[in-house]
Amino acid sequence: MILKYRTFELKLKHPFKITRGVRTSNWVVLIEIEHDGIVGYGEASPSPRYGESVETVQNFLKSVDLSKFDDPFQIEDILSYVDSIQPGNTSAKAGVDIALHDLVGKMLNAPLYKIFGLNKEKTPITSFTIGIDEPEVIERKVKEAEEYPILKVKLGLENDEEIIKTIRKVTDKKIRVDANEGWRAKEVALEKIKWLQDQGVEFVEQPMPANDLDSVAWVRDKVDIPIIADENCVRLWDVPNLGKAYDGINIKLMKCTGIREAMKMINTARAMNMKVMLGCMIESSVGITAGAQISPLVDYADLDGNLLITNDPFEGVKVENGKLILSDEPGLGVKKLV
Ligand code: MG
Repeated sequence: MILKYRTFELKLKHPFKITRGVRTSNWVVLIEIEHDGIVGYGEASPSPRYGESVETVQNFLKSVDLSKFDDPFQIEDILSYVDSIQPGNTSAKAGVDIALHDLVGKMLNAPLYKIFGLNKEKTPITSFTIGIDEPEVIERKVKEAEEYPILKVKLGLENDEEIIKTIRKVTDKKIRVDANEGWRAKEVALEKIKWLQDQGVEFVEQPMPANDLDSVAWVRDKVDIPIIADENCVRLWDVPNLGKAYDGINIKLMKCTGIREAMKMINTARAMNMKVMLGCMIESSVGITAGAQISPLVDYADLDGNLLITNDPFEGVKVENGKLILSDEPGLGVKKLV
């Protein structure tokens, strides 16, 4: 097997602001794994929150030697080797995992959801993300998101109430809130979440810093809506410890090293009677479609990273009135455009 990669700058439709900062574009690494003339596509979208950059992804991929494997179906062996090269580097590892799964699907001439035994009619509705902004911009973004029935709203800075009130002025559609670790004191988090549940918010994601699990547990016991772990839930080994503070987990392929580990995390969360959400970074249709292939297994989807960009280098999963629509093309079912 031969591994190749190139960097690519995804341009955002609007500047995207969350508690950690604002960005107008996002660099990703597009990956190809070739075997016997068949090419599998993958993608790494590195996040500085988890210590990665385009440079760290490239450095990691340089150290991956797939020439010693001649059977792409030995996914467990291949990905165990990739994971053992260095700790961290989760999006780089996810890029290899996604490309390998695409390759195997193409070799079997079947879409991944079928290989996993899933029903594509059961894909969830994806939320559409509204970043932190001034009221006029929020209002415009909510109007632009008209076709999406669920909004995921970023909070966690000074203007939380103003943002929710602005949105509620324009629409009564379902709102999910992501505070991205923004509320530092548990009393503040509790007050905010109590107010948000009165506004009809469905759940709140990562209200407090990931290193303060005890405070999240304190808050969770006093509120009525589910609290979902994102920054607290990186890899499989994080899941068993989260039941005491959270009602569900947000799995992202870029955090957890890909489809292989995501499946294990879903099973672990189900054994703990926890809700499961599939999220994403700013990604092209490669990463998003990989998530969509396993989305029939989850309760909530936030797979909109490709909807926020203007220059998607691939075509993949479609969205109709918010619902993820998978094709019957083999593997991921993505088509390379550039
Ligand atoms: Mg989040």
